[in-house]
Amino acid sequence: MNDFFLIMCYTHNMENVNLCVGGCRIQQLNEIVSKILDPKITVVVTTAPAPRVALGEYFNLPQQNLQSKIVGFFKMLGVDYVFDTAFGADLTTISEAYEFLDRLETNQGLPMFNSCCPAFVKYIQNFHKDLIPNVSQAKTPIAQIATYTKTVFAQKHNLNAKDIYIIALTPCIAKKLEIKSNFIESKVLSKFDTNQNVENLSQNKKISSKSLELLNKLSQHQQQCSDNCEKLKNIQANLSNDKIQLTDAVLTTAELVHLINLCELRLNDIPDCQCDELVGQSVKFGASGGVLQCIIDNCYYLKTNELPPTNLLNISSCTDTLCEIIVPLKISEQKTSIKVAKIMGLRNIEQFFVSQKYKEFDFVEVMSCVGGCIGGTGQPTNDAQTLQNRKSILLKDQTKNFALQNKIALEYYKNYSYLCYDN
Ligand code: SF4
Repeated sequence: MNDFFLIMCYTHNMENVNLCVGGCRIQQLNEIVSKILDPKITVVVTTAPAPRVALGEYFNLPQQNLQSKIVGFFKMLGVDYVFDTAFGADLTTISEAYEFLDRLETNQGLPMFNSCCPAFVKYIQNFHKDLIPNVSQAKTPIAQIATYTKTVFAQKHNLNAKDIYIIALTPCIAKKLEIKSNFIESKVLSKFDTNQNVENLSQNKKISSKSLELLNKLSQHQQQCSDNCEKLKNIQANLSNDKIQLTDAVLTTAELVHLINLCELRLNDIPDCQCDELVGQSVKFGASGGVLQCIIDNCYYLKTNELPPTNLLNISSCTDTLCEIIVPLKISEQKTSIKVAKIMGLRNIEQFFVSQKYKEFDFVEVMSCVGGCIGGTGQPTNDAQTLQNRKSILLKDQTKNFALQNKIALEYYKNYSYLCYDN
């Protein structure tokens, strides 16, 4: 059994595995095309760090970061805004850094585990219920950026949250089920309501002839919708009028390639475009050790008011499945350092928890996929050399990884920290 099936079996039941592989993308394709064509709907795509360093492998360009092509493709389709999910990762970093310091200072809920890997969170919920309080309350990066988009961004652009459709491009099949349980209450949204008249708004949206041509090509494949789509509808989120789903759809890297192929495009046909106004620093979230590094660097800054030294936590270069390190960080007179670790791969995680090794640490970054999200189940082949290549491309030029320097994210956290955590 490979990691893909291990993750899906641990997290969901086998019927859902079949749906993810056989049905989701066609069902989503129908919905995505109709939302882009709907003049009342503003369509937003958020792009996670891992797909941009794997996309090239499908097009014989394995050593390139193709984020600009990803943005360009969605713009060609007629998507209204494309944001970098690293902005959401900045919000997760800031939220987890504050939460972790609070837990350290009160000596409660330790060790803390990251919340951003839905397969791991589901594993804890299913097999170690007593450790649920140890998982961070911070929203995941895709939930953070979706919350920001449907509240502050919507208000700034005179949009209603219910008229925004968010597609998250991720390396992760487990995210397809994560989004079914991520909601925002209508009473919270009402504070950001703009009372925008959607009839007026519809006059502003213009779909170019090129976009129409591509959407037409995609529409032809709607006829292929299989019985699986009907089954999928049965596990749609259980929504009521008092809440709306945050992220509306998830596309994996493999599904992005499927879309590009259905449109009969080569990479050269796609323009290079930059993300719209939301970008972030925490790109390292895409590789094992990156979440831990981002959080500890930001904790250091919060405690000392100084930038962290470059060698404070150089754990990203460690390729072992379990890496542990002691970080000099003064929490109190008695506690002058913290012990942290990263672990990856569900098989190793099982051993780590059953043996109770986790009790030795203050914080543990847990990623279900070997290599972290760059080795996600929605990515192409994940051999060791490929993972190493993706990691080097991802971390190239990433000297800045400092979420607290993201002024938009920090101001949002300070004003709306209650939106950054799950209840
Ligand atoms: S480590 Fe794997 S399962 Fe976890 S969020 Fe990343 S891609 Fe998804």
